[in-house]
This record gives sequence, structure tokens and C-alpha cells, in this order.
Amino acid sequence: MKKSPNKIYCLGIESTADDFGVGISDKKGEILANISDAYIPNTGGIHPREAARHHAKVASDILNKAFILAEINPSDLGLIAFAQGPGLGPCLRTGATIARAMATYLGIPLVGVNHSVAHIEIGKLKTKAIDPVTLYVSGGNTIVSAFDSGKYRIFGETLDIALGNCLDVFAREAGLKYKKGVPLGAALEKMAIDGKNLISMPYVVKGMDVSFSGLLTAAIDLLHQNKYRLQDLCYSIQENVFAMVSEVTERALTHTEKKDILLTGGVAANKRLQNMISSIAKDHSVNFNTVPSEFAHDNGAMIAWTGLLAYRNGIITPIEDSMVKLKWRLDQVDIPWIK
Ligand code: AMP
Ligand code: MG
Repeated sequence: MKKSPNKIYCLGIESTADDFGVGISDKKGEILANISDAYIPNTGGIHPREAARHHAKVASDILNKAFILAEINPSDLGLIAFAQGPGLGPCLRTGATIARAMATYLGIPLVGVNHSVAHIEIGKLKTKAIDPVTLYVSGGNTIVSAFDSGKYRIFGETLDIALGNCLDVFAREAGLKYKKGVPLGAALEKMAIDGKNLISMPYVVKGMDVSFSGLLTAAIDLLHQNKYRLQDLCYSIQENVFAMVSEVTERALTHTEKKDILLTGGVAANKRLQNMISSIAKDHSVNFNTVPSEFAHDNGAMIAWTGLLAYRNGIITPIEDSMVKLKWRLDQVDIPWIK
């Protein structure tokens, strides 16, 4: 990739949870680099302080690799974007500190990006979706949203844990292992392929919101009863939780009459979920779009691209306003780039 003096290159830093990611985008959304490294706990779930320590340790290596891949130097950058929230405090603060230091040292503007907005924007950039109903399902979030009157409105969300978290906790309890390149949700998906029997589990949709914690407790109870094949349990969990989010997505679609559905976030990689959502799209004669897997899970490219969208619309984040926002909701963010 050749650098051009007319281009603005934005470097995006993602560090909301277990992934430390760096992406570089030009102002047209060409992604020149997108590299990340995941913190994999030895036992149990994500420990925020340990994950933050991981991010600090790998940061300079990931940054260097991103510059080499993009074939640009730090001095070629025009903008630094970082995920300002929502997420885990210590992890967010590590990324924010690096972003502030780089912007200050290079004398260029800083933009704080909402992580959930970034998942939607990278989905739109990398697919044909223009104005979609989005199902965003990841390790930390479960949101059905669509744009209306200046903001991405939330039509439905989880009342407790995120869908990806539900899959991860069950998978860990069942002894499945998180390996590099094969997250726990993907390991559970592999098991589910050989499932045949649908076991009854709590299916909880309240209005437009969903709840997974009761199903998770029930599934773990069933696991410890040793009466069922693990394949059948994994299959039944998937059928239930995916049907719950599909139901809400379908209702949001019929209400908004949008012409696209976008599936994004780490769980978007799941083939069974893709099938369910694409069959809804077919039933309603709308387009189904799913973000390519490189951009589905948490990544720096989505932060870089969303930072550019914001910057081109006059948004910058002064250092004194750059403190992280652990509970920054999608529907609190103004989206001036959609007219
Ligand atoms: P993110 O939070 O966007 O980085 O996504 C990570 C989440 O996606 C974790 O909960 C993973 O277990 C989940 N995940 C990744 N691949 C799959 C898959 N193939 N099926 C289900 N969940 C997955
Ligand atoms: Mg992640």
C-alpha cells in the first residue's frame, strides 16, 4: 500500500475487553491493517486487570506490526481513534492511555469511538447494508438496533448477560477449551453440529428484550445431571438463544420496514445463527448481510473507520474529555454522518 499526501490515515485502538486490536484506515475506508491479540485466561473468564496487563504487554508489538503491514509511519497518521466505551474499565483505560500518548506526541486529533457504533459501521462498510436493522451479538453485548432521527435506536437488548457470554460460560463449564483462533462459542458450535435432540430450556423474551441467565443456569444443571449428550445440550442452547434474538430481530424489521438486516459482533461467525437470520430476511424479502469474520469480533479497523466518520463530521475528543465511559450506550451517541 503506497502512502499518499492527500490521504488521512486513522489509527484505531480497540481494547474494550479481551482483545487488543489496532487497525489503520484511510479516509475512504480502505483498511490497510487490522491486527489483534486476544487475552486467553488460564482458567475462568476474563479478569479485567489481567486482560489490561495483557494489552499493555502486547501493545507495542501490535502497533509495530500494523505500521509494517500498512507501509506507513506514525508520522503519516492524521488521526487517532480509540474505543472509549462501553467495556471493562482497566482494559479501556489501557487503550485510552496509549491513544492519548500517541495523539499528543504526534500532535494530531483524538476521537473517542463508541464500540457498539463501530460494530455497526464496519458491518455497513464491509457489506452492502445501507440502512439495516442490526443484530449485534458478542461476548459483552446483545442489541437489536436501527437508525432513526440522528441515533442508532435500541429496539431490544439483553436484560442480563450477553449471548456470547452465555455460550462461553456454558462451554467452559462443559470443559471445552479456548484455543487461539477457536473461541469458546466456535467450539460449542462444532459440538452442536452433532446434536439431534432438542432439550427443553427456558426461552425468555420479555417484550422486545431477551434474558439468557435462566437458560444458562438450567443448561449447567442439565449438564451436571449427566443424562444428556453434550452435543445435544450445545445444540439445544444454540436453538433457543438464537431463536430468541431472531424473534426480536424479526419484530424490529417488520416495525421499521428496513430493507437490510446486518448481523455483526463475534457471534455473527456462527453458521446456525446466520441461517436463522437469513431465513427471516428471505421471508420478508429483505437483504441479509453478515460481516466477514475478520471484522466480526472486536477489532481496531472498526474503531479507525468510525473515528474517521466522526472526524469528517466535526467530532474530535479533547484530551480532557477523553476519560473512558464504561456504560456508554449505543443510543446515547449522535450519528451526524447519516443524514
Ligand atoms: P467479540 O466480543 O465481538 O470479540 O466476540 C467474541 C464472542 O464471540 C465470544 O463470546 C465468542 O465465544 C463468540 N464467538 C466467536 N465465534 C463464534 C461462533 N462461531 N459461534 C458462536 N459464538 C462465537
Ligand atoms: Mg472480544
